[in-house]
Amino acid sequence: MGPDPRTALTSCDTLMLDMDGTLLDLGYDNYVWLEMVPARYAERHGVPEAQARKTLHAKMRSLQGQLDWYCLDYWSEILDLDVVALHREVNHRIGFLPGAREFLESLAGHELRVLLVTNSHQTTLDIKTEVTGVAEFFDEVYTSHELGHAKEDQPFWQALQDAEAFDPRRSLFVDDNVAVLASARKFGLANLLAIARPVSHEPMRKVEGFVAIEGVCDLMTT
Ligand SMILES: [Mg+2]
Repeated sequence: MGPDPRTALTSCDTLMLDMDGTLLDLGYDNYVWLEMVPARYAERHGVPEAQARKTLHAKMRSLQGQLDWYCLDYWSEILDLDVVALHREVNHRIGFLPGAREFLESLAGHELRVLLVTNSHQTTLDIKTEVTGVAEFFDEVYTSHELGHAKEDQPFWQALQDAEAFDPRRSLFVDDNVAVLASARKFGLANLLAIARPVSHEPMRKVEGFVAIEGVCDLMTT
């Protein structure tokens, strides 16, 4: 059904890692999108915050898993709100999940090609890299905007394979989003792990259908 987390790294030659909720604490993104954006939207448009929340959550739900959902330019335009500025305003909340930086550092001792594979918009990736240096740990970075499709969609994986020629049986992919993992499985990736604790201040989630680890530090072999 899935790889043994204790030996997952040694039986692969390509490691693909998601960013938000896998390496970086998703608490930051949740704060920006679920707290800050509705509050500022309400303020800017003169509507009660409860109403703003309802409107925004409905909009977000209808776009979930699509490329626009991950696009700061799109949201800035339709909300008439500088979403990039909001991200910067609270950039002190950006951080690695527990043990994630140590895990990335430990990869230098493995003969692995290490890829960041993210739905993150380039601007968010840049802001997060300014704060944490996250992108610097990778041999290559692939964003869904650059490849033209979200990870939830099969063409994303085809585009990634065209770029990287990875062997799906010798690749390990780790993500906190089960819809993304299901898409990777459909494409033929055999070694998939789910992150059960994408938000450090929340308890572990129950993950159905995939082998789950609390965080990437569970993959450290030393
Ligand atoms: Mg994620």
